[in-house]
Amino acid sequence: MDDCIFCKIIKGEIPSEKLYEDELMIIIKDIAPKAKIHFLAIPKKHFKYFSDMTEQDAVMLGRCIKKVGTLAPSLGLEGGFRFVVNQGDDAIQTVPHLHMHLLGGQKLAETDFNK
Ligand code: AMP
Ligand code: ZN
Repeated sequence: MDDCIFCKIIKGEIPSEKLYEDELMIIIKDIAPKAKIHFLAIPKKHFKYFSDMTEQDAVMLGRCIKKVGTLAPSLGLEGGFRFVVNQGDDAIQTVPHLHMHLLGGQKLAETDFNK
């Protein structure tokens, strides 16, 4: 998507603080952190909703999630983390490229579940 900010970050057209990259996804620091640690795990494939996914995408996203779990301790999230995906207007999804918020580095409140 030409005008998608996350596609531009993935292509290196917009700078980001990148912590991890493989053939399927990048993990970057959120520009406006809502917790002591706030990362975004962004699949390289552009799509907005879970409902847009093909079966192949489901395998790809599963691999990304598994990798997030493997990497979490080395990213400072050894104490645990909250995993949030905002979908659509009611969830206030602001970037139309599916991404996973990883929040942690502190004891989160029960209500800190949006982002
Ligand atoms: P969402 O509201 O779930 O779509 O989340 C979008 C997230 O992207 C927000 O937490 C923003 O702070 C974050 N964000 C927007 N632009 C950038 C950027 N250029 N670099 C890093 N994070 C960004
Ligand atoms: Zn995109």
